[in-house]
Amino acid sequence: MDENCIFCKLANGVFSTNVVYEDDDFTAFLDASPAAEGHTLIVPKKHVANAFELPDDLGAKVYPVVKKVAARQKEVLGCDGVNVLQNNGPAAGQTVFHFHVHVIPRFDGDGVMKDWDHLELSDDKQKEICDKLKF
Ligand code: 5GP
Ligand code: ZN
Repeated sequence: MDENCIFCKLANGVFSTNVVYEDDDFTAFLDASPAAEGHTLIVPKKHVANAFELPDDLGAKVYPVVKKVAARQKEVLGCDGVNVLQNNGPAAGQTVFHFHVHVIPRFDGDGVMKDWDHLELSDDKQKEICDKLKF
């Protein structure tokens, strides 16, 4: 646990919070400044800064928790869908540097998340980028 990290303290019960799910590896609690009612953060108990540092075993375990939380939101809140969002690095909007996954309940037409601007790239440009990124 990182003594300077608020999410370490929340995920490990040092500070109390609105916990909706917990297992050996993760705690899921309500976002303190939610985009929508029920906005939940899934947080590993171990300090990991971001997805770049996430060990594969923890990474493999996170999506089953996402599914559980999302299904619960749908069942209890009656939402029509969910956004699953995960920011890595300040450029991507990360503000708390302990890995977490946002699960945000969505209702048809609620306008909670805005679409991004879509680039129009040529086929050649797309191919060039693909060639760079390809493993
Ligand atoms: P990020 O921008 O890093 O992807 O998301 C951080 C999220 O953590 C934000 O949505 C913010 O509202 C939430 N948050 C920040 N501090 C606290 C806190 O002390 N408790 C809880 N429950 N959520 C927090
Ligand atoms: Zn931490």
